[in-house]
Amino acid sequence: MINVTKTFLPPLKKYQKYLKQIWESNQIANGGKLWYELQATLKEYLDSPNLILTSNGTLPIQIALKTLAKNGEVITTPFSYVATTAAIVWENCTPVFVDIHPKYLTIDETKIEAAITDKTTAILATHVFGNPCNVEEIERIAKKHRLKVIYDAAHCFAVKYKDQSIFNYGDVSTCSFHATKIFHTGEGGAMFCKDPQLYEELFYRHNFGHKSATEFSGLGINAKMSELQAAMGLAVLPYVDSDIEQRKRVYDFYREALIDTQLNMIKLRDGVEWNYSYFPVIFSDEKELLKAQKALNEKGIFSRRYFYPSLNSLPYTKLPGLEISESVSSRILCLPFYAGLKPQQLKVITNKLIASE
Ligand SMILES: *Cc1c(COP(=O)(O)O)cnc(C)c1O
Repeated sequence: MINVTKTFLPPLKKYQKYLKQIWESNQIANGGKLWYELQATLKEYLDSPNLILTSNGTLPIQIALKTLAKNGEVITTPFSYVATTAAIVWENCTPVFVDIHPKYLTIDETKIEAAITDKTTAILATHVFGNPCNVEEIERIAKKHRLKVIYDAAHCFAVKYKDQSIFNYGDVSTCSFHATKIFHTGEGGAMFCKDPQLYEELFYRHNFGHKSATEFSGLGINAKMSELQAAMGLAVLPYVDSDIEQRKRVYDFYREALIDTQLNMIKLRDGVEWNYSYFPVIFSDEKELLKAQKALNEKGIFSRRYFYPSLNSLPYTKLPGLEISESVSSRILCLPFYAGLKPQQLKVITNKLIASE
């Protein structure tokens, strides 16, 4: 069986080494030794000094929206994982969808201004599959209309854009450290924020609003990363670079095998140093996709329809008229993509795809 992703697990001994430290300190939450260590190590690895570790990658989106979007209209992409839209609705904001670019698959920045009203408070865009949005243009629009910018950068661990971490863009960026992502802590995530005052507010919010044991800065929630999660992160992190290198080899194999077919591949934005996080292919229509997916399934090969449906068609959004996103969503399939895939397995996958054309 070949799954779409395979969770990277570090050698058990390495994880146990960190667990032993937890047993010695007898502290499993609220800023223990490993939490500090992971925080410091990630700041350096990502070259992003303003990081807050969180318990998953969804709560930081919600905290950022609560803090910056203030129940307003939030301009967002319909092509992302459901968490992006769900967070907006969960925070009592109104999602306003703007269609996507047909090749980059990120929000089409040329259509943002037409969607702005006097109720708009923020833009929440996803660097989908680790491919950056047009961050310069989004920043220009946001400044002009006094809007806040939040990036769902869940797919972006280790992604750089114009020589700096993609997490350094926007008022707040968030990441997921879920097991299906490039780097994981079991479940986990982070938010990034350059402004010191906003950083402080986000930090308080992720810990119930605590300023100290008895003083509260405002409304908060529990989004803290535990010591057990930090232990997993510390054990996984040393392997991330070689994991990405091996993914690059898988990527090269796929590209070469599929370049002369009818299948379209994602176009990466110039200036990106990518993390090889996903391998999506776009079929000419949904029928072709379903045929290929079935042919793969029969061989025990499991692809995933990331991202389907287009998020404007969720039961709690139901907004029609996002032609490109709806069309791409119905035709895009993510192929199995992880470091351990062997050439022999890749051959089976690509041959099946080519045969089903
Ligand atoms: C994975 C993901 C999330 C959610 O992250 P969790 O850590 O699973 O909460 C949010 N947005 C996008 C785009 C994702 O892919």
